[in-house]
Amino acid sequence: MNKLGNLVQDRWTHGDGDGRVLTSAVTGEPVAAITSDGLDFKAMLDYARSVGGPNLRKLTFHERGDMLKALAQHLNEIKAEFYALSSATGATRRDSWPDIDGGISTMFVFSSKGRREMPNDQVYLDGNVEQLSRNGTFVGQHIYTPKLGAAIHINAFNFPCWGMLEKLAPTLLAGVPAIVKPASSTAYLTELMVRRMVESGILPSGSVQLICGGVGDLFDHLDCQDTIAFTGSKHTAEKLQQHPRVISESVAFTAETDSLNMSILGPDATPGTPEFDLYIQEVRNEMVAKAGQKCTAIRRIIAPAGIAGDVVKALSAALGEVRIGNPASADVDMGALASQGQRDEVRERVADLSAEAEVVFGGNDTFDVVDADSRIGAFFMPTLLMCEKPLTSTAVHSVEAFGPVSTVLPYGSLDEAVELAKLGEGSLAGSIITNDNNVARELVLGTAAYHGRMIVINRHCAAESTGHGSPLAHLVHGGPGRAGGGEEMGGVRGVLHYMQRTAIQGSPETLSRIGHRWIRGADERDPGVHPFRKTFEQLELGDTFRSKSRNVTLDDINHFAEFTGDTFYAHMDEAAAAKNPFFEGRVAHGYLIVSFAAGLFVDPDFGPVLANYGVDNLRFLTPLNYDDTMAVRLTCKQKTLRGDSGYGEVRWDAEVTNQNDEIVAQYDVLTMVATDAHWASVR
Ligand code: NAP
Repeated sequence: MNKLGNLVQDRWTHGDGDGRVLTSAVTGEPVAAITSDGLDFKAMLDYARSVGGPNLRKLTFHERGDMLKALAQHLNEIKAEFYALSSATGATRRDSWPDIDGGISTMFVFSSKGRREMPNDQVYLDGNVEQLSRNGTFVGQHIYTPKLGAAIHINAFNFPCWGMLEKLAPTLLAGVPAIVKPASSTAYLTELMVRRMVESGILPSGSVQLICGGVGDLFDHLDCQDTIAFTGSKHTAEKLQQHPRVISESVAFTAETDSLNMSILGPDATPGTPEFDLYIQEVRNEMVAKAGQKCTAIRRIIAPAGIAGDVVKALSAALGEVRIGNPASADVDMGALASQGQRDEVRERVADLSAEAEVVFGGNDTFDVVDADSRIGAFFMPTLLMCEKPLTSTAVHSVEAFGPVSTVLPYGSLDEAVELAKLGEGSLAGSIITNDNNVARELVLGTAAYHGRMIVINRHCAAESTGHGSPLAHLVHGGPGRAGGGEEMGGVRGVLHYMQRTAIQGSPETLSRIGHRWIRGADERDPGVHPFRKTFEQLELGDTFRSKSRNVTLDDINHFAEFTGDTFYAHMDEAAAAKNPFFEGRVAHGYLIVSFAAGLFVDPDFGPVLANYGVDNLRFLTPLNYDDTMAVRLTCKQKTLRGDSGYGEVRWDAEVTNQNDEIVAQYDVLTMVATDAHWASVR
């Protein structure tokens, strides 16, 4: 018997005793045994805090992003092994795709987000500098730094790979070590993936530990620097959230729980329209994928009363074609539930729903299965129910049958559709299928507050749509109320869950040094040469170039207008310009100012500055009248090394002033600057 390992302090350890036997969802054969009895959970936490955390915090966000990329590439190369084992969980190859490939691609997305949207540094700056004093000598800046504890990840059984990776990627990117606890019934697949990740040697010591089995007294040793990210049932989430230590230490707790997700069919989407067909396809797919064991699956089918019968008829026909059986077989569309226990549980929940709704398709105890024994495998027939009075029913809005089960709820008006959606009391995902954008807006505004993610599907986006039930690394996953009130992923937002936001106050120079981003009012350094002569390494934050001033004449404005074709009246017509509340007469074009500014600050000779790739935050603050003068201050603001590319990004703070020292324009100039090595090789 394969007794699952626990990864404790970088060593694979077996729990005490024989452990609980885990069986294949399809054949009922034993797959592995699981136990974490006897582990020293306190020591695991201490190790994460004293070894994993410091190792990860040494790295910058970009280095951690590189690590995630290497890990994702490694898993991608060996994924066949995970697919082979995945069928024991009841998943078809198609079902395993979002779990295995989806999990790996989540890592790639976080890797890319970390390298593109976060600095090559250990501190993340949140928002703009806040001016807190009249003279600008005292300012404020919000920063994020990694929490100094461990992230406890408790996952559900239905996505043993993705469930782990979607939490692990943002956690490691944040610089926080994780202790992963997969759900027991499918932990063998998670364990295999963790083994392969550890064997790759990519992860710094202490950054990941694994518990296969119960969590023992782990919670008794949590402190305020630890976080818990939980996925599973509402019942378990509530229990864990009420742990005395979680309460007394204010341990950050994110919960992703059950959901009675809804999908509304718009009144325009009558039979014969592309949207009606899309709706049937979407609901069918959501019921069948992973045998309906998806927290985001459509449980409530909210359809116009006039065509609810057509929906039942079309869905029944589509479900009737679903081939159930051994997920490893190519002739199978839907595999088994994760265990016999889950099958019994779903049967009971269908019985609960039947008190208020009639089974109109499925529900049979015996049915044909392909290449498997229906008495042994945890197979369940797709089951559709119809509830005639959904506004006064309760079970259909609260009982989650975690399998291929969904209920049709007819509505009369859009207001009624909104009311029905809200009766789910908070969901992870909602969808609207309509080609009427007024309907889409009314339904989204009416129901968005009850949802973490919403998708509106019509004929224009359906072909490329990722579908109702697919959480994406770029978008938030989580939902209010019954869905747990938590939020995961959503790009950088998901990373920040594992970090502490702190408001830092002090002088501009102090805050520039802390955040590695120059702030107006901080020291300006004279670099001795034009800063464009310096390589990436030679440049220092605060290196400043002050240009000569130049006069801007009416001829300049006329010339620029004719040359560019921008003859807007404010630049050309004295009387019309003076009627404008912002101007006294003809003014210089904003783009003329930016162009002249470049002419004032660039150093033209071949040098380490390779390219200007844009400007950020451009604002024109004081109009520049003809015969005014302008000058520029250009200060090195932020440096971001781009791995081994031979260059880094340098952000410059540009400020254009007039003869009265009034600020005419402010912006960030973005450049690529060669490293020492690259510059030496080309100069
Ligand atoms: P569950 O029974 O609540 O278990 C979830 C996780 O909690 C498992 O890892 C489980 O471990 C662990 N757990 C249970 N009791 C615990 C305790 N006292 N201390 C520490 N950990 C404990 O849920 P499930 O049956 O596995 O999953 C199905 C449910 O999850 C469904 O309701 C579904 O909607 C929800 N779900 C939600 C999402 C989402 O993203 N929102 C995703 C998937 C599933 P053991 O397995 O070892 O008991």
